Amino acid sequence: MDPREEFHELIAQAKEHLRYFSELGLTSIGERSKPAAAILAQSGSQTSEPAMPIAPAKTEQGKPAPAVISPPQFLPKPTTTMPTKKETSTEPSLFSEPSLFGEASAPTVEEQQADETLEDIRRDLGECKRCKLWSTRTNIVFGEGNPKAELMFIGEGPGADEDASGRPFVGRAGQLLTKMIEAIDLKREDVYIANVVKSRPPGNRAPEADEVKACIPFLFRQIATIHPKLIVALGNPAMQALLDTKIGITKMRGEFQPYRRIQGIWVMPTFHPAYLLRSPDKKREAWEDLKKIRSFLRGEIEP
Ligand code: URA
Repeated sequence: MDPREEFHELIAQAKEHLRYFSELGLTSIGERSKPAAAILAQSGSQTSEPAMPIAPAKTEQGKPAPAVISPPQFLPKPTTTMPTKKETSTEPSLFSEPSLFGEASAPTVEEQQADETLEDIRRDLGECKRCKLWSTRTNIVFGEGNPKAELMFIGEGPGADEDASGRPFVGRAGQLLTKMIEAIDLKREDVYIANVVKSRPPGNRAPEADEVKACIPFLFRQIATIHPKLIVALGNPAMQALLDTKIGITKMRGEFQPYRRIQGIWVMPTFHPAYLLRSPDKKREAWEDLKKIRSFLRGEIEP
């Protein structure tokens, strides 16, 4: 590219970035994240030890060995009280209600072995007719991105644009998601993006329980194969499916939660970009969550 053209392109990109920051309600940029020690001190923690082991052993291929949580540990402990926000990050009481997925609640053999590829999983999915959504969809939206991503973003299900293209998050909400990814100094190609259901629910309704139950095992397998450090759950359906809870996003957002199917993977619930488009006043909170995500990935904070 001609150097002048390149310069203009860079200016345009910088302007776009700044516009997003101002859309988020930011008045200054370039602020440094608090060091982990300060955050731990603030939260009253006496130790710099992680709350749970976060570095699973490596296999021969250098891929982390799947430290899948055994079913008895995964299953909920009965309790009658609603957990507070603080408790939810470490307490099993998050799982105080019957699993949303019934039998699918225990990690599957495929997740435990995690020696399959994304292509294997896609092949197994086939021209899926496991729920009623097959009859109205145009394309299956399997997911896309870096198969070795440290960061995954999970939405609820394809919309019209995604159904037409077969790719996740390509409509307006997708454009905002791309800006959110870039705001934490990553590119879309660095991360992996998928949804709870892989076929479009008609009229953009939320996926129904039977649809989630039929489809979610494939997402669980994708997660086990990619083995990210962190999964960003975008909105209620994604968060509730990943954490197997009925608690709402407003209570849970912004706090790291353990992904209980595989030890060492964390979940950060935040608002769905489609919600942010409808409620721009929530972008400031979303930005707070994004900064935590960035600090975690840089090793500056621990959950
Ligand atoms: N909303 C979602 O939840 N997922 C998509 O892929 C697009 C919009």
